[in-house]
Amino acid sequence: MIADRAKSLLKRFASPVLDQLGLYDRQLRQHLSASSWTIVMYHRVIDDVAMDPFGLGMCVTRRHFDEQLRYFNQYFSPIGLSAAVDRLSRGESLPDRALSVTFDDGYLDNLTTALPVLRQHGVPAALFVPTGGLDDDEPLWWDRVISAVASTSRREFVPGEVGLPLAEERLSLGRWQRKAAVERLLDSLWTLPIEQVLAIVSRIEQQLAPARPGVPVARRMTSSQVRQMHLAGVEIGAHSVRHPNLTLESPAVVREEMQASRAVLENLCDAPINGFAYPAGWKNADAEAAAAEAGFRYAVATTRGVNDRNALNLFSLARVGMPDTRVSDLKRALSTARQIPGPESASS
Ligand SMILES: [Zn+2]
Repeated sequence: MIADRAKSLLKRFASPVLDQLGLYDRQLRQHLSASSWTIVMYHRVIDDVAMDPFGLGMCVTRRHFDEQLRYFNQYFSPIGLSAAVDRLSRGESLPDRALSVTFDDGYLDNLTTALPVLRQHGVPAALFVPTGGLDDDEPLWWDRVISAVASTSRREFVPGEVGLPLAEERLSLGRWQRKAAVERLLDSLWTLPIEQVLAIVSRIEQQLAPARPGVPVARRMTSSQVRQMHLAGVEIGAHSVRHPNLTLESPAVVREEMQASRAVLENLCDAPINGFAYPAGWKNADAEAAAAEAGFRYAVATTRGVNDRNALNLFSLARVGMPDTRVSDLKRALSTARQIPGPESASS
């Protein structure tokens, strides 16, 4: 809580001042060599902050997104992910300070809100879409939890009652405790295989029902909207079928999640699907090998860092999550992301 407060004060007051003094530009010049390849990660781009009830770090406002893309064009050389991989595999170099933009999870606002801004700035992007239930008009499993907690009138919840491994714990659902409750539930769900996750999410929804009307839900693109993105020139990549923690699944399930999602998207786009994004970044050496075997040419992780094109593992590409902030604070985020290869950093 105190760390959160300090971070938000840094964003609001200190970052613009330090940027004015040229501190971040100096750090970035030292930090990002010409051979750096920065891959930035977004999830949602929104107009209205009410669309993000708990501020879990997955949303950037359109205004900030617009500013951030303008900055990328000024300071970096934006390049599509597959285009970069093509050049590298031909033994060619990337442009100086190459930067690729990615989106995970296939939210509808990527089409309605982000795409016009991407086009306006001429910045290429890749979109990693989970294929399960694309046309069911049902939110992704963590958004179902967020939505159930945001809209319930219950004051308390016992996670053990729905089968979560949080014995003895009771979560308060008072207005100010809801964010912490959601974070606790999601953290716990990420420790379970996907079959169990989906069963428990349904039980959470039942326990917290009925939902109050009017609470916004994070909507996904349908399959035809994903195709629309592809036709608009956005690279489509796979992101599994059900968005599991791949490190908890059997080799057969990992293979199926990768191959099936790739096949669905290839059919949908009538084009080869080159890239895979590990769901929530969970991966191990087996998952990297499985991605190569499934026919992908590269895979992106959520390891926070900046790649160096001279020392790349194409199946473990690092990314930097973009904050919902002005450019001054974005520079801070980029200048503190570790260069890959580099010493393991404990910061996230
Ligand atoms: Zn995801």
